[in-house]
Amino acid sequence: MQTNVIFDNKIPYGNGILVGVENKKKWLEVAVTPEALNAPESLWFCFRLKFKNRPETQNRLRLVVKYFYNSLGGLPAEKINPVTRIAKGDWQRLSAGKTVPLPDGRADAVWETDIIADSMDFAFCFPYGSQEVDGLVKKSKGYFKKDIIGVSPEGRDIVRLSNNYGDENAKLPGIYLVARQHSGETSGSWALHGFLARLAERKAQAMTVWCLPLTNIDGIEKGYYGKDNFPIDINRAWGALPMRYENLVFQRDIERWAGRSRPLLALDFHSPCGCEADGVYCFIPKNGKGTADKISSEWSEHFEKSISADFASGEFGKVANYPSRWEEPCLSYYKFMNKFYKIPALSFEFPYSRSMENILEKRNYLEIGGSMADAVLDRLKTVVKNTMVNYE
Ligand SMILES: [Zn+2]
Repeated sequence: MQTNVIFDNKIPYGNGILVGVENKKKWLEVAVTPEALNAPESLWFCFRLKFKNRPETQNRLRLVVKYFYNSLGGLPAEKINPVTRIAKGDWQRLSAGKTVPLPDGRADAVWETDIIADSMDFAFCFPYGSQEVDGLVKKSKGYFKKDIIGVSPEGRDIVRLSNNYGDENAKLPGIYLVARQHSGETSGSWALHGFLARLAERKAQAMTVWCLPLTNIDGIEKGYYGKDNFPIDINRAWGALPMRYENLVFQRDIERWAGRSRPLLALDFHSPCGCEADGVYCFIPKNGKGTADKISSEWSEHFEKSISADFASGEFGKVANYPSRWEEPCLSYYKFMNKFYKIPALSFEFPYSRSMENILEKRNYLEIGGSMADAVLDRLKTVVKNTMVNYE
């Protein structure tokens, strides 16, 4: 009897298509591919495999991700460690993959693992969504409030967290944080989670912190990778007149925040290309001369020092010079905040799998984010002293 493989992409954040199954005596080979859905690029996948009538001796899985060369940095698989779990278990990293060349120049990405249950989930990186945000709010024991600032085009709540509402006299320095403009970039979310959790642990109240943890909520819930997605990338729709309804909702909230605090810093949390493994780094907005904005650079240097050398890129703060599908004035968040609010702004990239040879576990992302929060609290003392009056 042969094992029957049932493929399920309807689990939370589900993405993927079953391409084929091969039964071997001790091995099961399952070929899948990620779905581009509404974007010109694919990368994110998340699905469940169920094995029916599997003989106990058939206990190894060869997971073949086909056409991964069509993704944003899907190869080489040697630099990528997706995650797996059994039902309701914790997600674990897989071992590094292999890039297997095909005779016509294409290649498959292959990961091998034990079959440890008859239902196993696989994802490109540790999933993250509303459940984790709610868990963070609950664990903060009242430090973070969760408010709904609008409803997405498809009817989902757009959530904003805050540690306080500030006030119209705007006494406290303000920080505004966003993540998941590209809905599949979950490693950025885990770092942000660590950042927020550290603020809650330290009960930091000397600043007004507002945060949009799940900006592209429709894309997140539907399992979209969401980089450069249609009708326009959320992170290129930040013009003075925004090109997406979500951005209008965000911008009105930023106006409220700016009226109730003294804007100090804007941060954005992303993930880079799939196989990038040079450590965490950030993009710095350009000044009028085309070089890096000075105050943003100072913040970048400060963050660089806060992150362990195992996880910080040797080339930490940089000016973006990669080609964009959306030409200016289709602004990204950090450029918008720098241009219209005249504050330092940084857009961070947290690798999906590893930093150099160090595999990034959830706890590493949380620690990186936590260190960044410590860095903000640390720098707040000097920055506030030098640039702001009436702080204390
Ligand atoms: Zn991104």
